[in-house]
Amino acid sequence: MGVSVEALDELRAALPGDVVLTDADAVEKYRHDWSRDPTAGTPLAVIRAENATQVQAAVRWASAHRVPVVPRGAGSGLSGGSSAVDDGVVLSLERMRAVEIDPLCQVAVVEPGAFNQDVKVAAAAEGLWYPPDPSSSEICSIGGNVATNAGGLCCVKYGVTTDYVLGLDVVLADGTLVTLGGKRIKDVAGLSLTKLFVGSEGTLGIVTRAILRLVPAQDKRSTMVATFRTVTAAAEAVVAIRTTMRPCLLELMDRATVNAVEDFRPMGLDRTVGALLIGQSDAPGAACSGEIVAMRAACEATGAAECFVTDDAEEGEMFVQARRISFHALEARGALLLEDVGVPIPLLPDLLARIVAISEAYDIEIPTVAHAGDGNTHPLIVYAADDPDAERRAHAAFGEVMAAAIELGGTITGEHGVGRTKATALPDQLGPDVMELTRKIKGALDPEWILNPGAILSR
Ligand SMILES: Cc1cc2nc3c(=O)[nH]c(=O)nc-3n(C[C@H](O)[C@H](O)[C@H](O)COP(=O)(O)OP(=O)(O)OC[C@H]3O[C@@H](n4cnc5c(N)ncnc54)[C@H](O)[C@@H]3O)c2cc1C
Repeated sequence: MGVSVEALDELRAALPGDVVLTDADAVEKYRHDWSRDPTAGTPLAVIRAENATQVQAAVRWASAHRVPVVPRGAGSGLSGGSSAVDDGVVLSLERMRAVEIDPLCQVAVVEPGAFNQDVKVAAAAEGLWYPPDPSSSEICSIGGNVATNAGGLCCVKYGVTTDYVLGLDVVLADGTLVTLGGKRIKDVAGLSLTKLFVGSEGTLGIVTRAILRLVPAQDKRSTMVATFRTVTAAAEAVVAIRTTMRPCLLELMDRATVNAVEDFRPMGLDRTVGALLIGQSDAPGAACSGEIVAMRAACEATGAAECFVTDDAEEGEMFVQARRISFHALEARGALLLEDVGVPIPLLPDLLARIVAISEAYDIEIPTVAHAGDGNTHPLIVYAADDPDAERRAHAAFGEVMAAAIELGGTITGEHGVGRTKATALPDQLGPDVMELTRKIKGALDPEWILNPGAILSR
């Protein structure tokens, strides 16, 4: 154990009641995120803070005793960002869930543990909308969304989390709480520090409150679904669509994913397709059908086998739901290594072709889904956990997919974050100068490297 019994007693005294958990069974539940990162350690304690003052007390204690702190939202992360570390503490924000809507300023003031969906529901009650919509919206927290700069399905038109963050309260590594930004739409006073914390994956500070911009409720959506013989043909359609418009959703599922979804929850999807493309428009009035017609024409021009259009919201949602459950469906097929690589949109067909080639070269299944309209793909490498050779090939393919994205001028992560599972590949994308700059910023804000050590980069 890294700290003395007296030090742990000191923590319990500072945070009385049931805030500090040390029981092995209770702690076990906080070791992993959804990626089941095998390097996750065993923490000495889990701190379930009820307010910002308790977060400050926890961090001050950790700073005094040089104890690593892993901030944790809902643990739905896909890159091991909230994997526990040995001799550290997990600082869970799950109990801080208040959501307050200010309809006059059109903002939500949110505690970090509130789920993304909680904010959407509260905003809808005031006729407003919080657009960022990860597929995990019902199981992920706003703190986690801010820390990973989460994306989702409607980002192709509406942007990602950072586009909606107006202000943050952040507890720094020495326990100081700073308030950045506010309910102001425009504010350029000082350095852009609010944005520095968005996407920092818990390595620079702990978010205890977020002020989020809301927009008027979304218009009714129409849906187009097209099938293609190959995944690259579907990607060509995406490129064609994105050169002329920004649909409010443009998602791709390849054949393996369609089949996994059909096995998991039969919906009558065509199992023989090479790929399925789902596009939606929420443009007002006649512009909506105009966008759908144009999407359909682009799909037909790039060789779609079939195109289907519906204005029925429920029917459209059925296809979107198929896309949303694809991770769960694929999880049922074996152990997974989750990729999140992205490229500039015109290079999407090349990236998808490279993924198919890697799958063949390593003789490993790589079903792929994509927020295709953003050029952001999720190749999911599936392997049998009890087959060491398959595991070795899976890890090799994981590295190759990231290398392919970098070679195409892309990124190793479009929305899930680097976490721990991609930390070794980050220098390949950023290069030594940007890594050094990152290290300097980390060192300036967290000189003892107690905040989420090992996530994004190591000391
Ligand atoms: C089925 C499924 C579908 C998904 N779909 C999407 C998707 O479409 N788009 C997308 O972007 N992601 C998606 N994700 C990934 C995941 O839901 C997001 O990364 C989400 O933002 C994580 O939120 P969380 O509360 O679960 O965070 P956690 O997993 O608990 O933590 C994630 C990171 O944030 C840090 N963190 C958490 N809370 C705080 C805080 N208050 N202050 C500072 N740091 C903090 C952690 O240390 C960690 O580094 C999906 C996940 C699943 C399981």
